Amino acid sequence: MAFVIDPTPTPSVAVLGSEDRFPVRRIFCVGRNYAAHAREMGKDPDREPPFFFTKPADAVVDSGSTIPYPPETSNFHYEAEMIVAIGTGGRNIAEAGALSHVWGYGTGNDLTRRDLQQVAKDMGRPWDWGKAFDNSAVIGPLSPVSQVGHPSSGSIKLTVNGETKQDGDLTELIWSIPEVIAILSRSIALAPGDLIMSGTPAGVGKLKPGDVCTASVVGLADCTVTIGEPL
Ligand code: MN
Repeated sequence: MAFVIDPTPTPSVAVLGSEDRFPVRRIFCVGRNYAAHAREMGKDPDREPPFFFTKPADAVVDSGSTIPYPPETSNFHYEAEMIVAIGTGGRNIAEAGALSHVWGYGTGNDLTRRDLQQVAKDMGRPWDWGKAFDNSAVIGPLSPVSQVGHPSSGSIKLTVNGETKQDGDLTELIWSIPEVIAILSRSIALAPGDLIMSGTPAGVGKLKPGDVCTASVVGLADCTVTIGEPL
């Protein structure tokens, strides 16, 4: 058997302190997952069920890259997020055992064409053109659970040209990582190589050519991207 055209190389992201890389299968993103205040323990009757959107695996970009300002937007946004890298898959994963499916964690930037996303929301259309475009998932080097454990508290922030724009805490996640894994796995079979972008704290805003944008999560490698001129 031969392929009739050359198959796409497996997209991948860096692993901190290693030449090895993590192969990316799919990218699931959680919409609106930070409250203004830390979540209280136990039930929160006001929280809406989480919802998800996706990005193509080959939208991944390594930290340190320069990417062109994307087409068809004049409101291009950053979103700092903690990245969850799935090492073992499953369906109907129980919340109690969910973290055993995680290979590691990283810091990412869910780049967004906010104007196209808003049009989609207003018109009841899919979010893809706002979220799932080329170079839209900047992912810093991943750290394995064996080195960083399971981060659930501490700073998540983002700077543009050194100025702090987002300054949150992982404890503000409305849906915890075990909950997100459990809920996702009820709708689709999670698989090794899947990445979860777990949501962004308040403070999202615009990027322009020349900007240097760095997302950070305490204990994990930073994720930096430079915005170049449009193609
Ligand atoms: Mn996001």
